[in-house]
Formats: sequence, structure tokens, C-alpha cells
Amino acid sequence: MIRPVVTGLSVLAIALAAEAVAQERGTLNPQPLPPLADPADPNTPAKELFARKPEPVHLAARAIGNYVHGCLAGAVALPINGKTWQVMRVSRNRNWGHPDLIRFLERMANKVPRVGWPGLLVGDLAQPRGGPMLTGHTSHQIGLDADIWLTPMPDHALSRKEREEMSATNVVAADRTEVDPMVWTPAHVAVIRAAAEDPAVERIFVNAAIKKALCRDPGSNPAWLHKVRPWWHHDYHFHVRIHCPAGNPDCHGQPPPPPDDGCGKELDWWFTDAVVHRRRAAPQARAALSAKAADQADRSAAGLPAGARGAVTKTGPLCWPAIDFPSGM
Ligand SMILES: [Zn+2]
Repeated sequence: MIRPVVTGLSVLAIALAAEAVAQERGTLNPQPLPPLADPADPNTPAKELFARKPEPVHLAARAIGNYVHGCLAGAVALPINGKTWQVMRVSRNRNWGHPDLIRFLERMANKVPRVGWPGLLVGDLAQPRGGPMLTGHTSHQIGLDADIWLTPMPDHALSRKEREEMSATNVVAADRTEVDPMVWTPAHVAVIRAAAEDPAVERIFVNAAIKKALCRDPGSNPAWLHKVRPWWHHDYHFHVRIHCPAGNPDCHGQPPPPPDDGCGKELDWWFTDAVVHRRRAAPQARAALSAKAADQADRSAAGLPAGARGAVTKTGPLCWPAIDFPSGM
């Protein structure tokens, strides 16, 4: 049985802790997790159950729940090599997604060489059955979120070791208020824009310094900017989230981002002293900043739109099959 895993404020707390883990290296020698003493124990955290499912459940593709609380049936894997993409940290087995997400990534990978970006290095998508993860990420639970490195794809097939151990490029300057001019290029703008202009894309999360750079130089027709939302971390990858797929009634999306470009007051807030130096703040002040950030981000990065809590409790029973059905069913 799955208990509601996360609620309101704990979502925020986890969101803050999560991204730092994502840059961690993988391993060349992945080991299966030790079996649980009593998997039927209702107090077993859902993340322990989901992490032990190496295969998807073979049902019709369905995203169930919301971005930060749910699961995925009928996941498909993004092949680890495409002509214009390569999957990183393969040992994590997180290159699974709803077929809509896989189609989007293939479409985008096809398109980016035309805008000056040689190909995509793809980070975490979702686990084979979605759900919460043991490390990193609050969202990525229903197969509709993808992390894409801000490092252009090299011109050779990466070795297994490179995929596990290579570091992504941090594009944010040391003072955290600007992108690093030695690293940031027009092609970075172009690749994020290419994602934002895809109609499947719901929103994109980037570091505030990146959003600032995009606002400065959005190119012709800046209508795409409103989908790009500032959020903590996200300085070496950007996070793309697609809409709930058609015909997936159990998928609960979130309110659309505000229609304006998000380059005004809202963005300025991210560069106030308190926010830039929040690590130095007392825990209570830090928590207040996090709550304000979630509010600024239209409660979105946490993915729990007001009123969605009821839907969250429904997620449990709907996700049981994703956990309990043997793969092959
Ligand atoms: Zn992400």
C-alpha cells in the first residue's frame, strides 16, 4: 500500500535538497538494491518500492497523479544513443518516460542541430514505473519531466565511464547573479528556446541567472519566454516538463504559467540579497523564502496547485498496479 508520501511544506523542503544530488556521479558497477524485509508493510516508503522495479508495467501508457506525486504505467525507454542525443548516468535506470515525453525528446533532438546545438545530453527522466526516487528530484514522478544538460553533446559516442562520471557545465557565474560569460553562448539560448517553442512543453525550469540572460536576449518573438521559470539550482541542466497527455484522465497538470514574460519584478526578487545569500539565513527565514519562491512560481515547481491535495490522496490506489503487477502483465 502506498501512503501519501509528501505533502505541502515537505515538498518544498525536499525540492531544496533534491537538485544538489542530481550532479552526483553514477557507477560502472550498479548493484541491485537489497530486498526489503517486509515489502507489504504499509509503512514502507513508496520510494523504496518504486526503486526496486527495474521494468515498466506493460499496460496502456498512463501518467497517474501529478508531477510530484504519482506513477507511470506503460513507460518506454529513451534509447541510450540516438543520432543527436546520448543518455547520461545510464546506471540509474531513469531513462523511462511516457511515450509523449520520448517522442518530444526525439523531436527536439532532431531539431537542435539546426539551431547550433549539436545534440542533447539527457539526464534523468523517470524510473520504469515513475514514482518517488531514493535520490534527487521531487518531481519526475509521472514520466513527463526531463533534465537536459547545458553541455552540448560531444562529437563522439561517450564511453560508459564518461556517462557515469563526466560533469555537466555550470553556466552560472560564481556570484550567482549572472551567467558565466566564458561558458554561456547564443546556442544555450537557442536550445532552451527550441524546447519552449514545442507545443508539448508545459514549462521549463532554469536558474534565475539563466532566465535573466534569456530575458536580455530572447530573439524575435519572445512569446516562448513565459514558459521558462526561474527556480533554485538548475545551473547545469534545464528541466523540461510536458503537458498531461491526451486521454490520461488520471493525470493532474498544473495551472499554466502566467502569460507575461516573467522578466520584471518577479525575476528581480531572485536577485535580492536575502535570496542570493539564503544559505546564510536562519532556517526559519530560509523556509519563508522557499514558500515565497513557490508562490512566485505560481506554486508550480512544487507542482501542487491549490486544491490538488484531494487528487493526491487518490494517487495511492491508482498507483498500486504500477507497483504490484508483475512486469509482463
Ligand atoms: Zn529535473
